[in-house]
Amino acid sequence: MVDYHLHTPLCRHALGSPSEYLEAAREKGLREIGFADHYPLGLLGVKPQSEVTMSPGELAGYIGEIKALAAGEKEIRVKLGVEVDYLPGKAKELARLLAREPFDYVIGSIHFMGDWDFTHPLQEARYKTLDLAQVYRRYFELLWQACSSGLFDIIGHIDVVKKFGYRLSDDEMEPYWRCTARILKENGLCFELNSSGRAAPAAEFYPGRRLLELCCREGVPVTLGSDAHAPDQVGRYFDDALRLLREAGYRELAVFTARQRSFIPLEEV
Ligand SMILES: [Zn+2]
Ligand SMILES: [Zn+2]
Repeated sequence: MVDYHLHTPLCRHALGSPSEYLEAAREKGLREIGFADHYPLGLLGVKPQSEVTMSPGELAGYIGEIKALAAGEKEIRVKLGVEVDYLPGKAKELARLLAREPFDYVIGSIHFMGDWDFTHPLQEARYKTLDLAQVYRRYFELLWQACSSGLFDIIGHIDVVKKFGYRLSDDEMEPYWRCTARILKENGLCFELNSSGRAAPAAEFYPGRRLLELCCREGVPVTLGSDAHAPDQVGRYFDDALRLLREAGYRELAVFTARQRSFIPLEEV
């Protein structure tokens, strides 16, 4: 199995050293892992209310640490990824910054609508003050912009706006799901089945079954990630995730080296 979404304590809201995540992956029998810690927002001149990323000065150390871990490991393939916030107006700057780093893959995620970190537990209350239909519209507009930006290899936790359980009906969601699957396909993107949503109030993977099925039907490649912020979360809920992937019609997982995509059959993961 593959877990492409592991964090490190550099982001200030995760626990455990990279080598502890690696040992957890070994215990779970994973074949390949990738660290994808939060890219420094400071490099884009952004300072959020709560610190949620590494600082600009820590990026080189992060890259060096993961590269060293990979070089010293014989059984498990260890990849260097990163999770980057999509921020409108910062795309050009970000393209230039990302091009100079030796990442195996870049996950693009939406965590912010303006100054609102809508995935942060301390900022959940704002959902209650806003029109939910507008929140979803704004989220998906940003997501589709991120998909079209050309910045990313993988789109992270693609329907994370449901994290705290504030949801629209399936009928209201259907156009968003269809459009999302189509835009992923048009842009040649991969997305992740992110198992962390199961532990959130949403109590469901990102994405849920319907969007996963639509993506499979469109032929959009998928990879797998736990979004672990502690070693004991590595590979969490992966038995269920693999079952869901098969039921949705997937037969292979995407993996990345130096931002080039290849595939591993699901039977071998
Ligand atoms: Zn995080
Ligand atoms: Zn994220």
